[in-house]
Amino acid sequence: MAVTLETPLAKVLGPKTATGMADQLGLHTVRHLLRHYPRRYARRGEMARLDDLQPGDRVTVLAQVKNVSTRPMRQRRGTLTEVTVGDGASTMKLVFFSHRHARLAPGVWGMFAGTVGTYQGKLQFTHPDMHLLSGDDDDDDWARELVPIYPASKDVSSWVIQKSVKLLLGGAGNLADLVTDPLPEEIRTRHGLLSLPAALLDIHRPTTAQDVERAEHRLKWDEALTLQLTLAARRRAAALEPGTARPRKPGGLLDAVDAALPFALTDGQRAVGEELAAELDRDQPMHRLLQGEVGSGKTVVALRAMAQVVDAGGQAALLAPTEVLAAQHARGIRALLGPLGRAGELDGDPAGTRVTLLTGSLKAAPRRAARAEVAEGRAGIVVGTHALLQEGVDFADLGLVVVDEQHRFGVEQRDALRAKGSRPPHVLVMTATPIPRTVAMTVYGDLEVSTLRQLPSGRGGVASSVVPVVEKPGWLDRAWERLREEVAAGRQAYVVCPRIGDVPGDEPEDADGAPPEDEGRSDRRPPLAVLDVAEALRAGPLAGLRLDVLHGRMTPEEKDGVMRAFVDGATDVLVATTVVEVGVDVPNATVMVIMDADRFGVSQLHQLRGRVARGKHAGLCLLVSEAPTSSPTGQRLAAVAATSDGFELARLDLETRREGDVLGAAQSGRRSGIKLLSLLEDEELIAQARAEATALLATERGLADHPGLAAEVAALASDERAEWLEKA
Ligand code: ADP
Ligand code: MG
Repeated sequence: MAVTLETPLAKVLGPKTATGMADQLGLHTVRHLLRHYPRRYARRGEMARLDDLQPGDRVTVLAQVKNVSTRPMRQRRGTLTEVTVGDGASTMKLVFFSHRHARLAPGVWGMFAGTVGTYQGKLQFTHPDMHLLSGDDDDDDWARELVPIYPASKDVSSWVIQKSVKLLLGGAGNLADLVTDPLPEEIRTRHGLLSLPAALLDIHRPTTAQDVERAEHRLKWDEALTLQLTLAARRRAAALEPGTARPRKPGGLLDAVDAALPFALTDGQRAVGEELAAELDRDQPMHRLLQGEVGSGKTVVALRAMAQVVDAGGQAALLAPTEVLAAQHARGIRALLGPLGRAGELDGDPAGTRVTLLTGSLKAAPRRAARAEVAEGRAGIVVGTHALLQEGVDFADLGLVVVDEQHRFGVEQRDALRAKGSRPPHVLVMTATPIPRTVAMTVYGDLEVSTLRQLPSGRGGVASSVVPVVEKPGWLDRAWERLREEVAAGRQAYVVCPRIGDVPGDEPEDADGAPPEDEGRSDRRPPLAVLDVAEALRAGPLAGLRLDVLHGRMTPEEKDGVMRAFVDGATDVLVATTVVEVGVDVPNATVMVIMDADRFGVSQLHQLRGRVARGKHAGLCLLVSEAPTSSPTGQRLAAVAATSDGFELARLDLETRREGDVLGAAQSGRRSGIKLLSLLEDEELIAQARAEATALLATERGLADHPGLAAEVAALASDERAEWLEKA
């Protein structure tokens, strides 16, 4: 029988092994097994990892039997056999009840797998699975320096996998027949990559650590290139579906906006603006992610793009994550446009357009009116929340969708809005959560990325410090004093708490920022709540100041009223949950005190303090926490206080959380077909693969000359585990 990559394992291995591999490890074909890479390599004479073992770990160790002793048990009938194994440096015990393996004799090497337990404070395996080196093994498996340890399961041990792989790799001669290398020769040469057969041989049966490294590098290339090809193909398909060009027209809304702006654009805003203007001018729909530090002025960039589209006769929609933010955007845009934003009204300019706010809290009649404005095309600029996505909201000619603060929106929602255009509209997604470049290229593989790095000049910046209340109780008093000083100087302040309070079943308002080490620590006191803190502050350190509260359980009208009062300066201090996190813009606010700061994630803290870096006055952010300064949590807070570089913090965030949490299921290797590639560490490789993928698909023939690559891409696409790609 000719074995190919698609041959079912059942035809090659015994039925029992094949069934175990299929059921427990999801390995069905020869291709799957060859791509089932070792998790690590055990090294003979190096078992230092024994020291790191924790009770409950399920591990495989390679060790030599030192000593075997059998004695009757005291309490019960039967015998107890204790086997000491070691690697020279450290030892551990294997325990067998009423069972003695004849082959377990001093001097014998073996692999032992089990769950680490303890007995009288010492680590041990009870009845481990084991594979002993008989000495008459007809091969060199055990003479090797590096023994592969595979991700294994209950019935399929690492060495069964090792044996099966070896069978496939066979007398290395036929490996080259079995595996044709999908990578074009020139790409391989250009990047100095091993051939696929060589890489597979080396990853499964390496001689040196360098073998492993080179093999991994090559195999990562397969993953990165296949992924990027899939994404590039998607980009190309999207580009082929024509949209509508929205060229720039002088003398319209855009010029009016530029004339009305009370400031000069930063170089970055200007450059990104040019980029957007040029893309809107094409009938190939724009797909762009605009990322920029909090306060970098993304809104005005978006508004200018929207104005260009309106000038060209289309409509633009701005999708915001909260009602507060939607209302703020609508207010700001109306104020800037003046009469040009009130076409059709008595004092409006007939040459202008209308700015329509469409949110879930609108009553039936105004909602109908708003929908009619949108459907008839009278509203050139439509600002809204999720309500925009609902059935029954129809646009006359949707030309541009702007999604503000992307991280609060699912991709499905973005798509729902996109589908409201008769032809695909241009799409601009804005986020202040900096996304590492590789993640943008992979998870957001269909989006081109623009970045605003520069903050408008004349910004005071934010000074941040940690207030460790347990170690320095006096500092909190000082914090309130500072806040009072700012208010006395005419400024305003936020006090942020993780919880609303006083409501049954009250949960932290925003769980997505919770750092992982908080899990399962129910013994901690509940997080501080807005309502309690507000009351305590009114009665105590902030008595006499005009204080108000803002949280997610208030009605949209209430929230809007509170926000307006704060914007107008009628309130000094806003005690709030993370509803102030996203985009809220009050330049006169200069102090933010974050209570229980350890309950928030790194990126979230960074977002929050961005609220007080908006004007010309210097901002102050105080991170109040009971966490000891020396604890990991305390150090995390110190890191936030020490840097204002959002990109660096995003990295820190990625490192402290598990990748999968941050990026969603899409990133967990199991589901994505990505096994070796690390989005954080393999940035350069991914960038190279992206360039190669784009080049490969740029030619007429696409992958026609590279059937191997086409097959890899098809395999990824048909893999149910790659379903997420559909949504990326
Ligand atoms: P973000 O990027 O966080 O959404 P915004 O768009 O809300 O930031 O802008 C923050 C503040 O900076 C707003 O008050 C805005 O009017 C102001 N701003 C934007 N661009 C400039 C600029 N070029 N010069 C001065 N202020 C600016
Ligand atoms: Mg914003």
